This record gives sequence, structure tokens and C-alpha cells, in this order.
Amino acid sequence: MNRRQLLRTAAALPAAAALHAAAPPPKTLKITAIETDVLKRPPATPYYDAIHPFGTESGSVVLRLRTDGGITGWASSSFGMIAGGPSVVQTILEREIKPVLIGQDPAFPRRIRAALWKALEYQGVGGPTQFAIAAVDIAVWDILGKSAGLPVYKMLGAFRDRIPVYSMCGWYYDNDADLGQYRRVIGEAVEQGYHAVKIKVGRDSIDDDVRRVRAAQDILGKGRRVMVDANQAFNRNEALRRGRVYQEMGCFWYEEPLPPQDMEGFAELAQQLDMRIATGENLNTKYAFADLIARRGADVVQPDNRRAGGVTEWMEIAAIADANGLELASHGGGETNLNMLLAMPNAIYMETGGPQKSMKDGELPGPREPGMSSEVSEEEIRRYRV
Ligand SMILES: [Mg+2]
Repeated sequence: MNRRQLLRTAAALPAAAALHAAAPPPKTLKITAIETDVLKRPPATPYYDAIHPFGTESGSVVLRLRTDGGITGWASSSFGMIAGGPSVVQTILEREIKPVLIGQDPAFPRRIRAALWKALEYQGVGGPTQFAIAAVDIAVWDILGKSAGLPVYKMLGAFRDRIPVYSMCGWYYDNDADLGQYRRVIGEAVEQGYHAVKIKVGRDSIDDDVRRVRAAQDILGKGRRVMVDANQAFNRNEALRRGRVYQEMGCFWYEEPLPPQDMEGFAELAQQLDMRIATGENLNTKYAFADLIARRGADVVQPDNRRAGGVTEWMEIAAIADANGLELASHGGGETNLNMLLAMPNAIYMETGGPQKSMKDGELPGPREPGMSSEVSEEEIRRYRV
């Protein structure tokens, strides 16, 4: 077809051309304001893992990104124990991130991440600074989902619409030498419909660990899984000694046996044990994960959506794990983790706990609402705002 014929053909299609011209150009959004609230929870009954006390000090930072299109992006970053953490994150958001963020187009999350890393490199992109960067990224993805009318997992390249979950319920409790409280919560998890539970180990002797694993397995019965989590409690020798025992007992994975910075220790342990080594909740950014994965220091990679980075960084970590044949699980639950896990073929579990209304066969379905489903209710903000 020559140019003249082409023009004639085009002229013969006025209706199609008009239709094309009538489609409105895609709206470009701009971030116009950022708002933050620090929430503080009242002290609850204390509970413990191998090294941390929980329940007395907890809170969160709620972030809202306003746009000129009327869409607001939400994120909520929680702290389980650091009393001052939320206000540090709030200060970073208000004083250092805000000037960089105002005027940015939320359709460019990687450009925003680059701008924030550049602005914050002086203190480094780890610790509370990364909590702040991650919250921005989560809120940006919430805006993108809402503007497209899709739940975020469908924008990330969905792989599935449900994901197996496990209950993190086997904590240490005060005055629980007979494991009465411990047994009760695991029994509740079974009643709630979970097919897997995670228990804490490593606070006491190996004999105590064996007692806890056995008690959990007795309650769960055949066909349900127990994961053990040592929360960095061991050195390399002890990690191997105990790991052999958990392996022998048939535990599904062995989480964070060593401090996160001991990458070489993780590599040695993963080679010496057949059972899955799970770790990653305390690593910042994909560079730390790339190091861990290159050393083959984990079988299940567990990025935390606050410490590892927001959605953008987390999904890159998940893809590096996938390319290395490794399984993926979340640290923690909630809608942000759910959206991300549903987009990855190597995802095996989301961490959660307590009753889940929509759980069926030990799995949770994907969120239906457009965006991240990361909004915090006005009532909750009013009630706990500092
Ligand atoms: Mg853990």
C-alpha cells in the first residue's frame, strides 16, 4: 500500500478516527501533600521470642500521599517494640522526604525511589530511614492501583488469586512453664482453620525446644506443618546442633537461626542441613539479599516490606530469589504482603495470625478493592493518635 492509498483508507474510517480522538489523554497525577500520624497502642499482655519482648511498646506511622487527582495513597508502618521508632520515621517523612516528594508523578516509583535514596544517602538507606522510604513506595503503589481501578497484585503481574497462610502463634508467655497458654493458642489456630503454624524456639535449652515442637505437632496432627523461628539467637555451632534436631523432628523451615549480618554462617548452615533455612526479615535492600542469595544462605527468602524497601524493592528481591530457584515468604501479613505474594510464582506462604474471615483451606484470597487496601480507618487514627 502506497501513501496515497493509505490516506484514502484512513479517510474512509471517520468513525474510528473520531473514536480515537475522543479518548481522553491519560491523566498525569502529581503528589501535592504528605500527611503523617503517629499511633501508639496501649500496653498489651507481654509475649516474647528468643531475644525480644513484645506487647508493652508498639505503634505505627500512618502516611497519606495526596494527589491533584483526588486520589490518596496510604501506608502504615508498624513498630513492634521500639518506643521512639515511629516518631523518627515521621520526622524523616516530614522533614527530609517531603521536599523531594512534592510535585513527583506517582506513576514513576523507581524514579521516586532513586530521588529518595539520593536525598537520604547521608544517613544511609537502612534502619528507620528505609521504613520511611518503604512507606512512601507502598503509598505510591496504592495510588497507582486506585487510579487504574485494580488491586495492586493485578498491576504487579498476578500469578495467583489465593495464597497459603500460616499462623505465627507459638510465642513465649509469662508464667507458662507447663505450656498451657502456648498449647491453647496453637489449638485456636487449628480451630481457625490454619494448616501451618510457626513457633518460637531458642529462648531456652534444646530440651525445651523439643518439648515445644512436640507439643505443637501433637496438637496439629498429621498433614499440618510446624515452622521454627530462632530470631537470631544462636552462634554457628549452636545453630547447627539445634538445626539437626528440628530437621529430625520434621519441622518445615528453620528461620533466622543466626544474626542477619552473618551471611557466611547462613551459607554454611544451609549447606549442612537439608531442611529449609528461612531468613531475610532484618535485611535492608536488594543488595543485602543479592549477597545472601549469591552465597546460597537461604532456601526461603523473607523480605520485610518496611526494612527491605517498599513494593518496588521487595518485588525485585522476590524476582532475584525466583531466578535462583528459591522460595519466597513474607515477613508479616496484611494487605501489602498479600498483594505482593500473589504476584510471585515462587511465593509459598504469607505470615499472619488470628482469625481470618475469608480463609478457606488454609489460604487467603486476593483483595478485591482497587489499590493496596492499606488505608487505616479514621476511627483507629482518632483513637490511637499521639
Ligand atoms: Mg522471624
